[in-house]
Amino acid sequence: MENPLLLMIPGPTPVPEPVLFASARQPISHRSQDFRDLMADITVHLKWLHQTQNEVLILASSGTGAMEAGIINFLSPGDRVLVGCNGKFGDRWTLVCEQFGLITERITAPWGKALDPKRFRQHLEADLDKQIKAVIVTHSETSTGVLNDLETISRHIKAHGQALSIIDAVTSLGICPVPVDEWGLDVVVSASQKGYRMPPGLGFVCVSPKAWQAYETARFPRFYFDLGKCRTDAATNTTPFTPPVNLFFALQMSLTLMKAEGLSAMFAHQQRLMQATRAALHALDLPLFVPDHYVASPAVTAIAPDQVAPETLRFKLQQQYGVVIAAGQDHMRGKLVRIGHLGYVCDRSIVTTIAAIEAALKDLDYPFQVGAGVEAAHRIFKGS
Ligand SMILES: *Cc1c(COP(=O)(O)O)cnc(C)c1O
Repeated sequence: MENPLLLMIPGPTPVPEPVLFASARQPISHRSQDFRDLMADITVHLKWLHQTQNEVLILASSGTGAMEAGIINFLSPGDRVLVGCNGKFGDRWTLVCEQFGLITERITAPWGKALDPKRFRQHLEADLDKQIKAVIVTHSETSTGVLNDLETISRHIKAHGQALSIIDAVTSLGICPVPVDEWGLDVVVSASQKGYRMPPGLGFVCVSPKAWQAYETARFPRFYFDLGKCRTDAATNTTPFTPPVNLFFALQMSLTLMKAEGLSAMFAHQQRLMQATRAALHALDLPLFVPDHYVASPAVTAIAPDQVAPETLRFKLQQQYGVVIAAGQDHMRGKLVRIGHLGYVCDRSIVTTIAAIEAALKDLDYPFQVGAGVEAAHRIFKGS
């Protein structure tokens, strides 16, 4: 019998049935009143999700396309940018910047540790002639499971006065608070297959008035990812090119369900899933890669097992028990496994995953007390 796989990776994430069904219908014309009504409804809800009055533009792309759009629309060749790097996605931002000829300076922290906001402040305060045009921060670093202190870092960026903040909120938006207006975030990038409880295929860029000013003088060539075109068309609830209309149906349904749940309930749910996962893994003596719970991402938890080979554990989980977790990335491949608990994930998904991990550990002769992980997760779920 084929094993129905339980997807516990940090994207793509499981999708609620009503969202799947919403997309399972005939496409409509994107130049119709029905489409304009659909887009108008989506736009209102996207602003709600971002807690903003700024525009949120929708691209047919993965998150990386939205990252690229976030660079080329607001900067020019030779501009100086600061990039926070404490994992693969910070590194990816650096690669995009360098590819486009930006002068890139990195503020680094070891993988598994959070970026130090003070170092951003020092760099920005030292920039007296205001040469730094943008500061790029990955809020939740998916490769390690670290949640960077975006609130404090964005305060330092504001104090600089000139630099734009360009924020990767791909695994934080919809998962923990990203109050765009309150924190004054200029460009915020996200993607449908992470916190949106949707299939992959859509990228999002949320743009502040200050970023639109920068857009006017930005000199990179741009065509498909020209956000000015998106903005003009969005004003009449349409898009410059053919949008994936069936994903728009799914997005409308997903946002409607999220709105009914409410942001604080969504964030509280994610916190519990993270706490239960961490408590369970701790009880199993599987070393948490981010030991400090203050900087743990509510989207993903990584462990660095030492008494069992991470890849052996991961394969066993998938082949025998149908639970898919993610490998480590880049130099951490084979050293980490990552459990995604974002998107449409419920208490059962966590209990099932932990029980499957226990079963796999038993198969691999790992010394532990059977049931300890499930019990620890249960304690968190019962306590709230
Ligand atoms: C998933 C992800 C992205 C985008 O990846 P795509 O595969 O292009 O969608 C960007 N940043 C972070 C932090 C992510 O987790």
